Amino acid sequence: MTYRAEYIWIDGTEPTPEVRSKTKILADGDEPGIWGFDGSSTNQATGDNSDVVLQPAFTCPDPIRGGDNILVLCETALTADLSPHPTNTRAAAREALDKYGDQEPWFGLEQEYTMLDMTTGWPAGFPPNGFPAPQGPYYCGVGAVKIHGRDLVEEHTTACIEAGLKISGTNAEVMPGQWEFQIGPANTVEVGDHLWIARYLLYRVAEKHNVEISIAAKPMKGDWNGAGMHTNFSTKAMRESYDPIIAACEAIGAPGKPEEHLAGYGQGIEERLTGAHETQRFDQFSYGVSDRGASIRIPWQVAQDQKGYIEDRRPNANADPYVVATIMTNTVCSALA
Ligand code: ADP
Ligand code: MN
Ligand code: MN
Ligand code: MN
Repeated sequence: MTYRAEYIWIDGTEPTPEVRSKTKILADGDEPGIWGFDGSSTNQATGDNSDVVLQPAFTCPDPIRGGDNILVLCETALTADLSPHPTNTRAAAREALDKYGDQEPWFGLEQEYTMLDMTTGWPAGFPPNGFPAPQGPYYCGVGAVKIHGRDLVEEHTTACIEAGLKISGTNAEVMPGQWEFQIGPANTVEVGDHLWIARYLLYRVAEKHNVEISIAAKPMKGDWNGAGMHTNFSTKAMRESYDPIIAACEAIGAPGKPEEHLAGYGQGIEERLTGAHETQRFDQFSYGVSDRGASIRIPWQVAQDQKGYIEDRRPNANADPYVVATIMTNTVCSALA
């Protein structure tokens, strides 16, 4: 008998990498080993030297196929010496965790996304020739006028749970057709593994509903919220006392750091971080308790408890979670070391 392994990797699409996959049929008892693909078709190689290696990095049950079938998230590597491919951002996340793992970095990522109607190309719930009522009632809303796509959300959530991912919640967002799921707490590498698989599952489930998923940062221009990937972060020290919470905020705001972080926080960051719609401007840095207009929010409960975590509100929905987690780990853990 056989089972199927879906090999999943992150491609070289610019400016926003995308997820790709193909299927390998294996005999029962055989392990999914290294494999390869045509990098000239994914912006990861030239035609005359096209092979890129797939190295299995994280495996989980395939909740869509069920049975013994599995998903295999891979790192990409060069054929010459099996070193990480330049587009392999997981390698740097591994290095950061190797270096700072003793501080026990944890992440919780809030992945926002927008469901697009395949016929109109507009967000689900937007009428074909106009706009829905202004934002206000949609966030965490209920009822057929406010909510579009809940069946898809529920199916995706079930898939994530069956795959064993650390999904911690979901909610309808501020703009119609916009939703969020959260992954975490998980370490610098695991949070990216689980988030990329959760994105893959979202695209797969949405295929069945004939819905396109967009993680664009500002899918609708004008008075509509953008889509972010708020990044909740803590180390063991931050979970135990308040001084490291403030030290982390100061480290993230130190000269040169805001620019360094924003460079890894996804495409179109200036369009989303306008200072309106619950964001701080991209060219200003601030932190504050309960402040959804700050770059970094210290949750109210954290100030109350005098320990916990911080929320970096800047990353875009289209950011690479490995890149975001690597930058954050390096900045904060080097300062707290
Ligand atoms: P918001 O109030 O901003 O909408 P959410 O509830 O959507 O926040 O997401 C909060 C995320 O933070 C969750 O994924 C949760 O698992 C994560 N989280 C909770 N505690 C910690 C912690 N100590 N360190 C890092 N992440 C945490
Ligand atoms: Mn949230
Ligand atoms: Mn949100
Ligand atoms: Mn948030």
